[in-house]
Amino acid sequence: MQPSTDRLKTVCGEFALLAVVVTLATAALALWFFKPYGEAVMMTAVGFTVSVAAAGALPYFAYLTFRVSSLYADNDGLMRAAMTDRLTGVLNRQGFDRRFRLHLRSLLGQTDRGLMLLIVDADHFKKINDRLGHPVGDIALKKIAGTLKKLTRESDAVGRLGGEEFVISLPCGNAEQGEMVAERLRAAINRLYVGSGTKGSQLSVSIGGVFMRSPQPFARVYEAADANLYRAKEGGRNRCTITAITAQGNGRLRGADGSPAATPSLAR
Ligand code: GH3
Ligand code: MG
Ligand code: MG
Repeated sequence: MQPSTDRLKTVCGEFALLAVVVTLATAALALWFFKPYGEAVMMTAVGFTVSVAAAGALPYFAYLTFRVSSLYADNDGLMRAAMTDRLTGVLNRQGFDRRFRLHLRSLLGQTDRGLMLLIVDADHFKKINDRLGHPVGDIALKKIAGTLKKLTRESDAVGRLGGEEFVISLPCGNAEQGEMVAERLRAAINRLYVGSGTKGSQLSVSIGGVFMRSPQPFARVYEAADANLYRAKEGGRNRCTITAITAQGNGRLRGADGSPAATPSLAR
């Protein structure tokens, strides 16, 4: 969607065009109506009607600009609310979907850019809720979301798909850059603590990720990332498992030296 300033400019442009058309039509009418009274009267009448039409448009213009800009501001607020997860303040599923599509589109025609999709799932979250209570669980989710936002760029997309599962779309030059971000996120979340004293709990997440160089259907990318998340959980949790996905199929990521999978280097 266009930014509200652009939309406001369009409305103002349309109004200015309308004002010019109305002024010209008024002048033509004045010409036709006052013609029988001689040229002097006709020109005075035309000048007068054009001035009135042009001056009359100014308060309308000011009023329209004020009302439309406040409506656009309200509309932007509603759009933001509709795209935001209420508990954590990151994008909700719908908001994430929109941003992810834009990221996918930006891959078209590019050979040196890629996109990483990360699924970030809190470890043993049910236990945290059971031991410390649901409100503390909510605080943990907010802390995780805050860390994900803080350690990613504004141009990245961070969303909550539901429950204790977050998702990140990360445009990056190559898979290694995306892996470094994933590992940084994992380590930072592992430094978080909820509750107090001995009744508190250290947080950890497992991350399943997929790197792609060309646009792929979300369902396919999500399925591959989810399979990697499952592997990270199976591998002991608090770790990242990331693979590449190509138009043909999935492939384990290899290091620059052709060394096997990226996973072991990411696992703690
Ligand atoms: P795993 O390490 O395998 O992911 O285990 P887990 O306990 O994190 O996973 P499981 O799917 O068994 O439990 C997820 C828990 O997340 C259960 C549910 O009560 C909790 N949960 C989901 N949404 C919310 C929420 O909005 N607030 C809180 N406090 N808890 C939530
Ligand atoms: Mg979990
Ligand atoms: Mg889960």
